[in-house]
Amino acid sequence: MSSIIYPTTNFKATRTLTIERGEGAYVYDSEGNQYLEALAGLWCTSLGYNNRELVDTASEQMSKLSFSHMFGGKTHQVGMDLGVKLSEMVPVENAKVFFGSSGSDANDTHIKLLRYYFNAIGKPEKYKIIARERSYHGVTVAAASLTGLPPNHTHFDLPFGALGVLRTDAPHYFRGALAGESESQFVDRITNNLEQLILKEGPDTIAAFIAEPITGASGVIVPPEGYYEKVQAILNKYGILFWADEVITGFGRTGNDFGCTTMGIEKPAMMTFAKQLSSAYMPISASVIRGDMYDAMVDQSSSVGVFGHGYTYSGHPVACAVALKTLEIYERDNMFARAAVLGEYMQKRLGEFLEHPLVGEIRGKGMIAAVEMVANKQTGEAFNGGAVGAFAQQACQNHGMITRAVAGSSLAFCPPLIVTEAQIDEMIEKFSKALDDTYKFVK
Ligand code: PLP
Repeated sequence: MSSIIYPTTNFKATRTLTIERGEGAYVYDSEGNQYLEALAGLWCTSLGYNNRELVDTASEQMSKLSFSHMFGGKTHQVGMDLGVKLSEMVPVENAKVFFGSSGSDANDTHIKLLRYYFNAIGKPEKYKIIARERSYHGVTVAAASLTGLPPNHTHFDLPFGALGVLRTDAPHYFRGALAGESESQFVDRITNNLEQLILKEGPDTIAAFIAEPITGASGVIVPPEGYYEKVQAILNKYGILFWADEVITGFGRTGNDFGCTTMGIEKPAMMTFAKQLSSAYMPISASVIRGDMYDAMVDQSSSVGVFGHGYTYSGHPVACAVALKTLEIYERDNMFARAAVLGEYMQKRLGEFLEHPLVGEIRGKGMIAAVEMVANKQTGEAFNGGAVGAFAQQACQNHGMITRAVAGSSLAFCPPLIVTEAQIDEMIEKFSKALDDTYKFVK
């Protein structure tokens, strides 16, 4: 019997798989079976497994300074270097960076930074946050309240009311369009809904709009052309900040430096990062805000006496060293340009499955994608529940590939950015077998 309460797991239905080691784009179980990691762990192991440079960096930093905090003026060079590097990379004006350990805590930090900032500029009533249906922003009480997926709310009594989370449409045309509605009509309708929501609540009460440029855990939703342009115009009109949750899309995943670049999102006021920031060799996250927001907070902090927010592991030196090395490798090895080229190849190869009788939609950009299986190819009718997705996920595993079913019956693809074209072919071949197995299962 296990003594572990497993995270994000069906306690009754799930069989365990003991993963023992990893090498490049592969992991191996305790019986020595090899699996192609088609989800880069949890969308995070961009540089694959057993990268010696990252291992050596961690080991050297551990020997030199295994821990030091950043409270009350303490700092260390590797943390400062990472802060500079990150602030130079991101599209946020005069970016300032706060470090944490996970995507969820980074989003929690942002909720607090928003409150601190709007209190500082004398607008304490401007605290609500607009988040979308079918979004994933993490699982702490606050981050789960932003998340727009029922399993993260049901039986947890979430969303937490006092947070003031407002919900707007998911930009998923395939599932969200009305009969006969074109893509541009869909965009007009849902962005109009957003504007009506803002007017109903009062723009002066709304601090920010949070979005994953392309979603991950909710099924890799790529919004239609023109969506973000319209969203940004509305937010600018009403003085609401754009907050890009790039926990998955950051650092080359979508074929550009950031998902914002890929999706034409201009100058977000805030961004959140984790996962690929360190290629998941160490837990680290970053909450980034515009410089002028920080400046306002500085004045407030001097009157309050202290900015009362910080984690023990904010700026953990080993995590900072590994993240800094990861960013250097991305740059040195042109990883983002490589991801663009390989991503195009991956999307083209996955596109071949559109003919398959089980496939309703294929979504993605760069090195992230999802294939949605449907009960009726003609009508696009969805499967009820998660049984088909779970079967397909297991079928992939049986054929030596690890991926995850997301949003019920979609399978996600997000391999390490270091994969080769031959490994993408291998992924396609394994998926093809798993899809055929799944088709037999549902017939
Ligand atoms: N935001 C996004 C977009 C994510 O995909 C995730 C995790 O998958 C999170 C936040 C939460 O990150 P973590 O699991 O590190 O708390």
